[in-house]
Amino acid sequence: MIPESIARASLSEIEEAIKPAGLQRAKARAIKELANLILEEFNGDMRKLLEMGEEKVRECLSKIPGIGHKTIDVLLANWGYPVLPVDTHIRRISKRMGLASSGGYVGIRESLHKYFRPSRRLEAHLLLIKLGRTICKSQNPRCDLCPLRRFCKYAQDRYIAVG
Ligand code: SF4
Repeated sequence: MIPESIARASLSEIEEAIKPAGLQRAKARAIKELANLILEEFNGDMRKLLEMGEEKVRECLSKIPGIGHKTIDVLLANWGYPVLPVDTHIRRISKRMGLASSGGYVGIRESLHKYFRPSRRLEAHLLLIKLGRTICKSQNPRCDLCPLRRFCKYAQDRYIAVG
């Protein structure tokens, strides 16, 4: 059973296993705490936690230090909940496009939920990350190549500004 193995492992063993992902020290603690919670409160079965409903899952996981809104949303989205997790690329694109104002994480997510219907939110999350990595980069966004150019405030302002 995976939660049992993780709960038994030392922090340094977990750190070593997740090293390629980076930030292993903080992540290892959170992963170990999560494994303990799954073991103690859900008899080692992660599905029992995830099937409690979105709000209960949020409430339960947000008690673990190191697990934030984005991590919880990624878990929920991948379990089939209609959630659009917001990473650094999506935050940047949302602001440039004028889809979300300068609100915090939850404000941006809720704004995006108005634009993407529930069944497409995970797909939107993945596609927006891809766009952010390839075209709408932090420095020098390639608006000339962007399929969203027609809907984007940043591009419109820029093109209007240059005539
Ligand atoms: S048009 Fe430009 S600023 Fe807007 S999303 Fe595309 S690359 Fe980003």
